[in-house]
Amino acid sequence: MIRKTIRKAQRHLHVARFLARGVFNTRIPLLAHIIPMRRCNLSCAYCNEYDDFSKPVPFDVMSRRIDRLAELGVLSIIISGGEPLMHPDIEKIIAHIRGHGMICGMITNGYLLTPEKIQALNRARLEFMQISIDNVTPDEVSKKSLKVLDAKLVNLCKHAYFGVNINSVIGGGIANPEDALVIARRAVQFGFTTSLGVIHDGNGTLRPLNAAEQRIHQAMKKIGKKSYARIHKFQDNLALGLPNNWRCRAGARYLYICEDGLVHYCSQQRGYPAIPLEQYTLADVEREYSTKKACAPYCTVACVHQIAAFDNWRKPQHLDPVPSVEPTPISQDLRNPANA
Ligand code: SF4
Ligand code: SF4
Repeated sequence: MIRKTIRKAQRHLHVARFLARGVFNTRIPLLAHIIPMRRCNLSCAYCNEYDDFSKPVPFDVMSRRIDRLAELGVLSIIISGGEPLMHPDIEKIIAHIRGHGMICGMITNGYLLTPEKIQALNRARLEFMQISIDNVTPDEVSKKSLKVLDAKLVNLCKHAYFGVNINSVIGGGIANPEDALVIARRAVQFGFTTSLGVIHDGNGTLRPLNAAEQRIHQAMKKIGKKSYARIHKFQDNLALGLPNNWRCRAGARYLYICEDGLVHYCSQQRGYPAIPLEQYTLADVEREYSTKKACAPYCTVACVHQIAAFDNWRKPQHLDPVPSVEPTPISQDLRNPANA
């Protein structure tokens, strides 16, 4: 218990340092998202971020990427996939990130969370974990279900020294929207933070929530402790099917590094600008900081919204004249772990 409290205090200090350093210097990338494992042990019907065959990226390759991100001044790293816990050296990857003094978080489906694995993640000094739970009972769309994962939440409650956030989802044809409330209430019982993702339907179209979903969306705001994952109001607009007026700083303040080591805007705009990380420089960061993204008004990639809050009040962006860096509008279902 004492160790858990100490870790919590250290985490808060680390986040405070992150906020202080990040807010003043626009050339510092605040958050990088890395993919050590594209393969997943599940196959959610909506997901465009996994395969069932790829091998883990070797640790020495991942460590070089982390070193390069540290050189670029990146302050925090989120590990996702695929399923990152399938990577045989996941603890070494976490420890390497922490060795650079960066904040380290992970997004996982939670299936592989045994007490031993949680203790190993503690030793590696993981600081945050997010698990997205889609429904109460498994169905053909998703098996990220409370019924299956509840025992894992018990394990986390007992053993984890890191912060845990449980994300539930609404919209996009989720069969039982009231499941989001059940999941959030259960998370609160464990002392975890909660968040809610508003998602597109199966065609990638953002549609307003219906009346029942709206009620649940409003009710969710009153449940539990607020987390870093719900510090913004942008979901209110998405829930109503309205655009958001914001400045996406992907490619600058936020970097997405795919399993092949290329830098992309985000999970949903892979291919832009797709520059190898070892060639990515502060000049790229500066260019992308000012590049307006055409997909921004209806974007649901929550972590990039959160990072953008550091700079939304700063100088406006412009559409870059080079077509290769102007992303296309979102055309895929955005329900995925990166959006959580
Ligand atoms: S949403 Fe997550 S758990 Fe589901 S297939 Fe995609 S990566 Fe795997
Ligand atoms: S999808 Fe969202 S996060 Fe990605 S580039 Fe577009 S606006 Fe930015």
